[in-house]
Amino acid sequence: MKKLALHWQIILGMVLGVMVGLLMTNFEGGKEIIQDWVKPFGRIFIKCLKMIAIPLILAALIKGVSDLRDISKLSKMGGRTIFIYITTTVIAVSIGLLLVNMVNPGKSITESTRTEMVENYSGDTQKYKDTAKKQKDSGPLQALEDIVPDNIFAAATSNRNMLQIIFFAIFFGIGLILIPEEKGKTVKDFFDGFNEVILKMVDIIMLAAPYGVFALLAAIIVESPSVDLFKALGWYAFTVVLGLLLMIFVYIIIVLVFTKKKPNFFINGISPAQLLAFSTSSSAATLPVTMERVTEHLGVEEEVSSFVLPIGATINMDGTSLYQAVAAVFIAQAFGMNLEFSTQLGIIATATLASIGSAAVPGAGMVMLVGVLGYAGIPEAGLALIFAVDRPLDMCRTVVNVTGDATVSMVVAKSVGKLGEPKIKNWDDEYEAVK
Ligand code: ASP
Repeated sequence: MKKLALHWQIILGMVLGVMVGLLMTNFEGGKEIIQDWVKPFGRIFIKCLKMIAIPLILAALIKGVSDLRDISKLSKMGGRTIFIYITTTVIAVSIGLLLVNMVNPGKSITESTRTEMVENYSGDTQKYKDTAKKQKDSGPLQALEDIVPDNIFAAATSNRNMLQIIFFAIFFGIGLILIPEEKGKTVKDFFDGFNEVILKMVDIIMLAAPYGVFALLAAIIVESPSVDLFKALGWYAFTVVLGLLLMIFVYIIIVLVFTKKKPNFFINGISPAQLLAFSTSSSAATLPVTMERVTEHLGVEEEVSSFVLPIGATINMDGTSLYQAVAAVFIAQAFGMNLEFSTQLGIIATATLASIGSAAVPGAGMVMLVGVLGYAGIPEAGLALIFAVDRPLDMCRTVVNVTGDATVSMVVAKSVGKLGEPKIKNWDDEYEAVK
């Protein structure tokens, strides 16, 4: 019998996870069984992916930058990458604002529902506000200062320091370009080989993906709050999801126009990374798979993907920025506020910056939303309104974040003549090769 392709196995894992989760919520103690006996496998799966994130960034970026062999190529590619990342983010926020002003989801919330929600989640909201306050208390250039690590080994001990690792790796790569070739050869060969090993580890971990996502989804279902609250937030969630779908459409058009690659080719190539983004809610955890898919299946040469994607995973979050714009206006509407046009323009700028500042981990977008609310003078208590549906929306926006990174890597690759034919045409060849 022919084996099911990996993406179908992942989808099957998700569906079964949801079904088992729903089933277990009907039994007394079912939730605990899932939490104690199923959820840990999901966490182990995510940990395996996260475990290789820092070595992957280090090896891939050092290899990528040193492969360029010339600093001017690096600055050309860097400039384009940042420019296109910011452009797609601004498009995303604008779509979000347009939709939320058309659908007006906040106007359907009644006074009593609002009070109930604010009371239900006020504790959780405080946690987010505290984290956001810490970030806000620092000066305007703090973010820039934070990019530079004072100790690379200390920085490498936390996945939150990805930008610091990226900074070090690019700097190291530049150093490697500038020394005589024969002196750098051993170092370069080492990182080339190291990179290969890490990519093989990704293949191996992906074999467990269907089981991992099964466990993650079952746990999400048993832990989700009551259905009533979800209903009240239906229109808001609908607006966010509609915006995110539009964004995927925008990517497909961008890929078609700039690289002439068909929608099918693009979606087929990137879908395992999208499914994983959905299940893990973390672009950082998905990064190893995004890299592998873009390089092996979408034809982006490694020197581009290894440069563009790690940066994208940390700073390019189109889904997050779109969600922040919709959420901010939704909360304002729910509190009966009318936002001026100029304030909404300001939301484009703040949501763009906030998404750049969001860490690539679950729930980060909500922390940074506090900044957007603060800017527009919207009550922070409103965070409690959207709390109940944040996790499912986080899953969806992470899909967009990852798809956006893949899109930009293809466009940048095309613009520097590094978009070729994919190495692997058949879905599961490489995973088969592991077995
Ligand atoms: N979970 C998102 C990501 O990792 C960030 C967020 O919007 O919370 O891409």
